[in-house]
Formats: sequence, structure tokens, C-alpha cells
Amino acid sequence: MKLYNTLTRKIEEFTPLHPPKVGMYTCGQTVYDYTHIGHGRKYVNDDILRRSLSYLGFAVTHVQNVTDVGHLVSDADEGEDKLEKGAKKSGKTVWEVADFYTQHFYDSLDKLNILRPTVICKATEHITEQIELIKKLMDKNFAYDTPEAIYFDISKFSDYGKLFGQNLDEKQTVRDDVRKGEHKKHPLDFALWFKKVGRFADHAMHWKSPWGDGFPGWHIECSAMSMKYLGKTIDIHTGGEDHISVHHPNEIAQSEAATGKQFVRFWVHHAFLMVDGRKMSKSLNNFYRVEDIEAKGFEPLALRYLYLTTHYRKQLNFTWESLNAAKEGLNNLRKICCEVYETSHTGRQTLSEEKLAKIQGYSERFKAAIENDLQMPEALAIVWEVAKSNIPSSDKHDLIADFDQVLGLDLLNPQKGYTLKGVTFLDLPEDVRQMIKSREQARKNQDWQLSDQLRDKILKAGYKIEDSPNGPKLSAGNFNFAKMKS
Ligand code: AMP
Ligand code: ZN
Repeated sequence: MKLYNTLTRKIEEFTPLHPPKVGMYTCGQTVYDYTHIGHGRKYVNDDILRRSLSYLGFAVTHVQNVTDVGHLVSDADEGEDKLEKGAKKSGKTVWEVADFYTQHFYDSLDKLNILRPTVICKATEHITEQIELIKKLMDKNFAYDTPEAIYFDISKFSDYGKLFGQNLDEKQTVRDDVRKGEHKKHPLDFALWFKKVGRFADHAMHWKSPWGDGFPGWHIECSAMSMKYLGKTIDIHTGGEDHISVHHPNEIAQSEAATGKQFVRFWVHHAFLMVDGRKMSKSLNNFYRVEDIEAKGFEPLALRYLYLTTHYRKQLNFTWESLNAAKEGLNNLRKICCEVYETSHTGRQTLSEEKLAKIQGYSERFKAAIENDLQMPEALAIVWEVAKSNIPSSDKHDLIADFDQVLGLDLLNPQKGYTLKGVTFLDLPEDVRQMIKSREQARKNQDWQLSDQLRDKILKAGYKIEDSPNGPKLSAGNFNFAKMKS
């Protein structure tokens, strides 16, 4: 598989250190505010990478942190801790704020059909590991103690600029947000441990350490947790493009200084979701949540489809029109897929050499698209070609089911694309959909009385359900809906 590596600024052949195992770490969210659809894009792209690696036969361990302490409003170690700020704004405790938004984060990711990471680790549950790492840096003279914080000394780490490809003086000129802290030796030195003094005297989250009460800086958590779960050298580390200039160089510096080994072999960075030409973000307050798009009648997977229409290294400008087009694209694809589903059970045909080669060709092209630095727009186009092709339904079904392991669009779920004559399950009135789902559950529970009651209610709403050996069939007026699999 070929991947663009930010470290070398080249597309390279990806091979893991210990095949077939792949260790993949993705920076999680700072849980002080709602998850928005900009985050959604980044985590869907991580999910696509993870699913693609699995599809290609790798055994992926995916680790993701939750930043619930230590992320200040400014990268220059200035201002408040985002969590403490969020707590003040909402009148809740920092712990309540972190719990609430962590839940919202994973709820949003679930809606977008993002696989849960193998390991989810919270910064506040790994304070010991962070302190141990800082101790190592102090022992090796890569860090120094000041009255307000322990800082990493970047002058001791000659490779500091290797990720963003500039030397330090150049970086200083492009980053005017970085100010020299009270006792910082170099403006780009960064905090490993903040002491509970001065502006942080009232900080609610704090722990004992060899340097007094305090709390860890943001960057150290990712080094401590990624190395704890994936070892000193990690195959792939991902993040949004904003992390190329500060957070990730800092992770590299502190990890490599501590271990003397290469920290990450492949750095993968995702481009932003924009709105009106500006980054969609919490701080600009120009964001939509997954719930906002649901409230306008879009299912979250339409958003996933929209993300897949643009390569992960290109910015994507969000508009309601583009989401609408994605919704139509997805529903049209599902309609075809569900007709495929319908006819795919009619038995297999013996295929001609020509048809076999055609099927093989689709499969190879799909694989080639994802192997080529995750060209998802191309992969999506191949799914469309398959859907519209003249290959037998059973083979279409198998190919699309196979591709959907990577796409995660639930293309063959009959409940999602339940259709005949252009009407999908999703087009049914919400109360009817709910009743159908409840009836399916009742049938699974063998609660025949409830199932019959629901059938009568559905009939009153104008839709007739008949059970058949192949599952229930739904009809309404002159329309016959495809059979529904329980
Ligand atoms: P945060 O909680 O702001 O630290 O963000 C968590 C992750 O989402 C980081 O990797 C960010 O780079 C990424 N992210 C934030 N905003 C966007 C956006 N508008 N588009 C894509 N990724 C984003
Ligand atoms: Zn991180």
C-alpha cells in the first residue's frame, strides 16, 4: 500500500515493522465542547485507513487518546486549559464536562459508522506514565525545571523541524503566536508539566509529581500513551493538518529524546473540512454537529458518503447542497444495491470467462485505488460501475459487500435501502419505520402478540405486511416493497 508520509513529503510504500501487525495511533479529541462534522471528516478518514489496512490483510491495533486535561487554548502554552474553560462556561465540574463530551464524541463517531478503536485511552488515566516519561527527559537533560513548569528544551533536539521541514529560525518567523514564556529558554520550548501556581493555582485537575502538584502538558500524553500501547516505534500516526507544526513535532521531540529511537515511521495528516472557506472549528463557532444534519433530515451516512467524494489530503468545503447531492448519491446507490440484494438469492450462474475477468477486474481496480494513497473518490466510482454493470446479481452483491467493508456505507443493509419502484425504507414515514423495526424485534423475541399488534397498526397507517419464508414483505397501495430480511 502506498501512503503519503508527511515526514518525507513523499508517497511511499507502506510496510509495517512487524508484519502483518500494524500499530496505528490517532490523536483523539479535546473533550471540552461538542464534536462537529469537521472532526467527523478526520475520524472517518482514519476509519477508512484502518479499514483499508484490514482489507489488505494487516492486523491493525488502533489506539486513540481522549484529551481530558492539559490542552491550553494557545499552542504557545498561554491562556487557560480548554477543559477548565469549558467547565466555567457550563457551570459543571471539569470531570463532568469531560465525560459529557467524550460520550458525545463516541456517539457522533458511532453514527458515522466509525469502528471503535482497539484501545481508547484517557490522558487523566495515564498520569503515571506521563510523569515517568518526563522523569526520563529530566534525567537525560532534555527538560528543565522553572518556577511555573517543566519545559522541553528544543535546543537539545537537533531534528525538531523535520516534520514541518523548516529550521527553527524559519519556524520562528512563521509562528508569531509563539511567545517566550516567563522562564522559557527558547520560544518554542513547550511545557511537559504545569505547576499548580500563578494562573493555574486554582486548576481543578491536579496530581502529585516530583516537581510538585500540577498537571501534564497536552503533548506528553500522546507520547506516553502511544508508546505504552504500541511500543517505542509506531507504524502509523495520524492527525489533522494543524498538528504538523506544533503538536506532532513536540511528540517526536519528547519521544525520540526519551528512547533514542525513531518514534513514528509514517505520519498521515488529514486536510480540513471548511465552511465558507474557513476551517470548521469550535473556536470560530462556525460548526455543525451530526445532530444538526440529522435535524435537517439527513442520515449521518450521507455525510460519510460526502467525505469519501474528496481525497483525504484535499480540503473539502461543506455546503448543504453538496450534502444533498451526497444523500441522493447514496440513496441511488442503495436502491441499486437493494435490487441486487433482492435478486442475489436466486441462485448462481456459471460465468463466462469474459464475465469472470470483468469481476476480477473490478476487484483489482478497487484494491488498486485504496492502495494508491486511499483514492476513495476513485473507489466510489468503481462501486458505481459495478452497480450499473451487467454482471449477475449474486456477484454484484458479493463485490459490493466486499467493497463496503472499506467504505462503511451500509450499502446492503435492507433496512437502509429497502426498496422497490424507487421508494426506500428511509422514505417511509418515521412512525412506520419505527413500527417496522419494533415488529422485527418482537419477531426476534418470538413475541407474536406484539408482532401482530404492530402489524395491525402498520396496516392502519396504510402499509401491509405479510410474512413469507423469505422474511416479511411490505406493500402499500399499488407499490410492492422488496422483501425485508429479519
Ligand atoms: P481537537 O479536539 O480540536 O483537538 O480536534 C481533534 C482532531 O480533529 C484533530 O486531529 C484536529 O486536527 C481535527 N480537526 C479539528 N477541526 C477539523 C476540521 N474542521 N476538519 C478536519 N479535522 C479537524
Ligand atoms: Zn496527539
